Amino acid sequence: MTSQSSALRSTRTAAVIGAGQTGVTAALGLLDAGFDVTLYSDRDQRALRDDVPATGTALEFGETQQAESALGLDTFTGRAPRHTGLSVRIAGPAGEELIGFDGHFDGYAGVAVDTRLKADERLTAFLERGGRFAVEPVTPERLDTIAAATDLTLVATGRGGLSDLFPIDEARTVYARPQRSLLTVTVTGLGFGPDVFAHRSRAGGAHSGFSIFAEQGEAWWGPYLHKDAGPSWAFLGWARPGSEWEKRFAAADSAESAHSIVQQLYRDHIDWDLPEVLSTRTIAEDPHSWLKGAVRPVVRAGVGHTASGHAVAALGDTATAYDPIAGQGAQSGLIQAQRLVAAAAVHDGPFDAEWINRRYAEFLSARGDAANWVTRLFLGDPELAEIGGQLFATAAVDDRFASALVGLLHRPQSFLGVDSLDAAGTFVAEITGQDPAELLARFQPAGRFDRSAYNADEHSSLASR
Ligand SMILES: Cc1cc2nc3c(=O)[nH]c(=O)nc-3n(C[C@H](O)[C@H](O)[C@H](O)COP(=O)(O)OP(=O)(O)OC[C@H]3O[C@@H](n4cnc5c(N)ncnc54)[C@H](O)[C@@H]3O)c2cc1C
Repeated sequence: MTSQSSALRSTRTAAVIGAGQTGVTAALGLLDAGFDVTLYSDRDQRALRDDVPATGTALEFGETQQAESALGLDTFTGRAPRHTGLSVRIAGPAGEELIGFDGHFDGYAGVAVDTRLKADERLTAFLERGGRFAVEPVTPERLDTIAAATDLTLVATGRGGLSDLFPIDEARTVYARPQRSLLTVTVTGLGFGPDVFAHRSRAGGAHSGFSIFAEQGEAWWGPYLHKDAGPSWAFLGWARPGSEWEKRFAAADSAESAHSIVQQLYRDHIDWDLPEVLSTRTIAEDPHSWLKGAVRPVVRAGVGHTASGHAVAALGDTATAYDPIAGQGAQSGLIQAQRLVAAAAVHDGPFDAEWINRRYAEFLSARGDAANWVTRLFLGDPELAEIGGQLFATAAVDDRFASALVGLLHRPQSFLGVDSLDAAGTFVAEITGQDPAELLARFQPAGRFDRSAYNADEHSSLASR
């Protein structure tokens, strides 16, 4: 029986459309599971690595790394600078310095790896192990032909591409437009030791730093593994619609200009981190080390149908697009890919619409719905604003809770039922063992955040590298 099943499985074919990190991960996983796999890409391998920006920062944590390990893949935790926590500063509408806390990642670490590097290495492994790589932009008509000739077809063409094939899930899609404008740039010249961002955390450069401005947006710095420069830092900024920050971000048209805009932003608004930010410089060998844009958070159906009615599965950003404020997009895509591969490997029947729908429903229930809910918390969604105020203030008075709150980026699931102030109180009590009202009563506005005393001159050997 076992050998018969294996023989059946080894003859099955799979097509993956889109060679971003999610598509390549699924293609390699299916190949290793015994499928005959063709990966379709609108760019060749070199162009995927060198002619486009990374899709996003792609910071990921323990649960995602476990999914990658389950596929036998390198998680990069041995190569990328590790994030061991997140330090948060929150300012009010007039810039009042209100809330500060430093959460530690409890039993796991984060790594932000250039999506181009990860996809490139996995594509190399895919080719070495006998996978087929077809360089062609796949049209809906071509997809129809591919799906007709293939047992399992996955569409991982990102937020644009072929995503329109998958109807929007209106019940799960709450925003009609993007909630932020985004600007990101990757830089070098800054180390990761305890002296870097020491005013924010004793962990220094091992903790990423997040600053929230009620009326303007958010700004984040974190250690990053760049495809050419290696260990480096990434800035990621969010600007609220109509804000002054939005105008600043819109003016970026190169890595240099994005970097200047970020440095000026820190001079004008976020001076507590300024010395570190001023000591950074752009990565000369990569003109695509920056990105601006916006993401409308959208959840789509997991199954789509080609013109002749063949069922195909949505994967990664094609299935669900998240605003990156809670770092859920890349994580979701990789977890979804691993789950699909594991389920396909043991399935002997057809990969029809029912099978695809069931897998997607399981994924949404295991991760996707919670990831969206936590993203809404960090976006300051009106439905969650009061809850957010309570939780962030509590984090400022209780270290355990601060760690649990930043831990939602790693495992968002525990937050899924928190949809009222009462539920938020229970959530706090379960984590801290204390009365949530008493904890909240201890909260005092920060008044003035500690300022950086970082001296770039003392690090000139690093800066000159
Ligand atoms: C600014 C920013 C920061 C982010 N930060 C984080 C974070 O910290 N943590 C996190 O988890 N997530 C983050 N994300 C999200 C994350 O980057 C994405 O979810 C992830 O990289 C998407 O990967 P993908 O492979 O699904 O899609 P993509 O990377 O978009 O890949 C799709 C591929 O398909 C190709 N393609 C498109 N159309 C076709 C076609 N017709 N035929 C053939 N090929 C096609 C494209 O060229 C591309 O190569 C961030 C996103 C942004 C924008």
